[in-house]
Amino acid sequence: MDVDQPSPRLLMPPPPPPPATAANKAASVAARKERSKVWDYFKKIESASGVRIGKCIRCGQEFKADPKKNGTSEMKDLLIGEHTHEV
Ligand SMILES: [Zn+2]
Repeated sequence: MDVDQPSPRLLMPPPPPPPATAANKAASVAARKERSKVWDYFKKIESASGVRIGKCIRCGQEFKADPKKNGTSEMKDLLIGEHTHEV
């Protein structure tokens, strides 16, 4: 995908992306390829420290979904396991 780059002369040069940003980009690309059903039931939240959190839309429980550590598989397990509402 092509991203239009604004002229660096008009805007301040972008700061070097932190690792979390790169990981999030990769995760979003993967999510586009294979949109996880998890995100139909969990709302993606990102904490100030860049940790991705999935918040259950139904009951509001929050789970860490750091793509570097947990990815969405842990949340899938939770959904399939103890945390099923009516999937
Ligand atoms: Zn829930």
